Amino acid sequence: MVEMKAYAVLEGFENTGSIIFARHAVTARRMGADRYADGDFSLVSCCRAKWADQYAETGIVPASDMVWNGWNFECHYCGARICADYRAFKSWTPDYVIGYGEGAVFCHKGCQTAHEHEAAFDERLKVRTVAHYAQRLANRFPGITPKPIGSGFHGSHVYIDGGRIKQVIIEFDWPGQKIGPAAFRWDRNVSGTHGVTCCFGDKEAFEAFAAASKEPAHA
Ligand SMILES: [Zn+2]
Repeated sequence: MVEMKAYAVLEGFENTGSIIFARHAVTARRMGADRYADGDFSLVSCCRAKWADQYAETGIVPASDMVWNGWNFECHYCGARICADYRAFKSWTPDYVIGYGEGAVFCHKGCQTAHEHEAAFDERLKVRTVAHYAQRLANRFPGITPKPIGSGFHGSHVYIDGGRIKQVIIEFDWPGQKIGPAAFRWDRNVSGTHGVTCCFGDKEAFEAFAAASKEPAHA
């Protein structure tokens, strides 16, 4: 049986690539072409990366070892270009790099910690924001059931950038819905996009429901 070998596969234009494990160079290059060059074999280079053979079993290559071997990354938190002669601080070496060839890479532990704090802050802000808008919608449309934060295109959604809310979408089920839930949407810096929409076939029923539920009295 032929052993799996490590190959450094690179796409030249955007300078992206990774270590790919395969039995033969041609296979690694084919995989790299599919992944980084829409299948165009001629756009990727492929050469042996013997130093990474030790990771063949899991296929997971530590970013620190890649930096030692000439690879570059962008720190997922501070954006610094991480290469072998980068210095986050005086005693820095590529051993400080956190992460793997695929996924978020940090130039050192401090950046990873800061990123985690920021992510936790965003998560709490999302939950609070959904609760706030869900309550307002429930006041306006009694009887609806707002949906929790979902994944992909389903459920409610809050988009945060740099600690600021950029977009809020609250999906909710409503009495009388036949096709699907309705949604409230708000976008920062985009006028005229905030409001409630429903599925096309539900329009009449939703308008009747909305008209029947009274606006709450303003104090
Ligand atoms: Zn960093």
